[in-house]
Amino acid sequence: MGNIEQIKHSAQTLNLTGLKTNAEQLIKNAEEKDSTYAEFLSHVLISELQFRMERAKNKRIKEAGFPYVRKLDEFDLSFQKSLTERQLKQLSELNWIEQMYNLMFFGPPGVGKTHLSIALAYKAASEGYKVVFTTMTTLIQTLRTADISRGSKTKLNRIYHAQLLVIDEVGYLPIERTDANLFFQLVTDLYEQASIILTSNKGFEEWAEFLGDAALTTAVLDRLTYKCDMITLDGKSYRLENHKSFLKKGDNEND
Ligand code: ADP
Ligand code: MG
Repeated sequence: MGNIEQIKHSAQTLNLTGLKTNAEQLIKNAEEKDSTYAEFLSHVLISELQFRMERAKNKRIKEAGFPYVRKLDEFDLSFQKSLTERQLKQLSELNWIEQMYNLMFFGPPGVGKTHLSIALAYKAASEGYKVVFTTMTTLIQTLRTADISRGSKTKLNRIYHAQLLVIDEVGYLPIERTDANLFFQLVTDLYEQASIILTSNKGFEEWAEFLGDAALTTAVLDRLTYKCDMITLDGKSYRLENHKSFLKKGDNEND
């Protein structure tokens, strides 16, 4: 076995996947830079650490379950004026997760509630926080089926270990009384244990209607809003304003 093969074989046995992948490149770099032994060994170890950090980051992002990726720097504050640059910067620093504050985004469709939720949660996952993204409908489904479905059990387990849980689209559909109880239980369990980002198209006065019970709604809101910033986004729908058309203008004979 040649040196390189021996290195790769040993690296594999020792679970040094970064070294196994990059062995040739590391040696080439060291030769080109005329590195000392100490420099070379240090580069090898740093490269392995970086490889592991990158792999862990990708795993956190994958396990968060984002439906798609949105970034904070893609959010146009000149279009959405309900949030100042300073506020967005403060939120993007993520100290609120450290202090277990919640965030709520309200507003009609298309104003950026999901965009901001994903972008903040994506940054959190990138920076080492355990994050789970779900919609209210999927969350209820997960809570309902945790006892009978392995997938739901795994997801619920992740939710209970998350430092940040995003619950998107709360209030779009009314939920049944038993499901509202499950939701209340979850909110109670996560209280002061994790941060929650929640988006809703409904104001609090309408929550009792879709949760189906006034007392339960008060108890849920009491916990969710205790340490919480509530941001109402308004204005026009970004989707409608930036509407894209597949058909080219002029193709229609009646144009
Ligand atoms: P909501 O969840 O409030 O219904 P979304 O966050 O899904 O709206 O926004 C709809 C689409 O418009 C998404 O593709 C989102 O990235 C985009 N969008 C919304 N607001 C902005 C904004 N201020 N700047 C850039 N993109 C935006
Ligand atoms: Mg949305």
